Amino acid sequence: MKFELDTLGLIHSPYKEKFAIPRQPGLVTSSTARLELLPPYNQADAVRGLEQFSHLWLSFVFHQTMDQGWHPTVRPPRLGGNERVGVFATRSTFRPNPLGLSVVPLLGVTLERGGVWLELGAVDLLDGTPIVDIKPYIPYADSLPQARGGFAPEPPGDLLTVHFSPEAEAALAHHQRALPQLRQFIGEVLAQDPRPAYKKGKTDEKEYGVRLFDLNVRFRIREPECEVISLDPAQ
Ligand code: SAM
Repeated sequence: MKFELDTLGLIHSPYKEKFAIPRQPGLVTSSTARLELLPPYNQADAVRGLEQFSHLWLSFVFHQTMDQGWHPTVRPPRLGGNERVGVFATRSTFRPNPLGLSVVPLLGVTLERGGVWLELGAVDLLDGTPIVDIKPYIPYADSLPQARGGFAPEPPGDLLTVHFSPEAEAALAHHQRALPQLRQFIGEVLAQDPRPAYKKGKTDEKEYGVRLFDLNVRFRIREPECEVISLDPAQ
């Protein structure tokens, strides 16, 4: 059987590229996102009662990588990037059906003239991600504290300590009013060490860049430290 899915809505998030997006929503908590419902789903009736729930399940399409296919085994970053496990034992983006599933905080529902927006807490989703289903999170059914977490029993613990250069500090001060959470957000994102697994534990002189909001954030990592070098307006 083949199925066709409709895009119900689009994510608006600070993550403008795949690099450095957290691997699960709760790993970076100091950010918010919005889900814009698209016609014909952008009607108040379709979300009536949703505001009673604190969290949602979002089913989405890994639209940026869906053309890259899949392999039966993958090398999860959690296993250092060199041990293979079956694709269905992972949350890899490269899957036979490019569907993802994230549980995210619902902060509110905004009804505008001709529009419905879901105000979300932290997400692990690229800006523009197409959402194909929305369901309320139901704690009695969905929370299983006794469940075994396989090779990912805990959130990753080896976080980097993030510092800001004087130039980056000046830029943070400049953006303080519009983006008051920016320092914490960048700190949480980079503390996860977004580099490929093979870079870890080695001397790394490379200067990296990532686009967050409309900023190009440049940084360098000398484990266990990360220095944010600059924050410039993205071109
Ligand atoms: N929580 C979801 C799940 O378990 O199905 C997603 C987990 S997946 C490991 C999260 C990663 O997906 C992010 O770190 C980012 O690299 C990638 N990602 C997020 N949105 C994407 C999109 N629209 N297209 C392709 N990759 C995306």
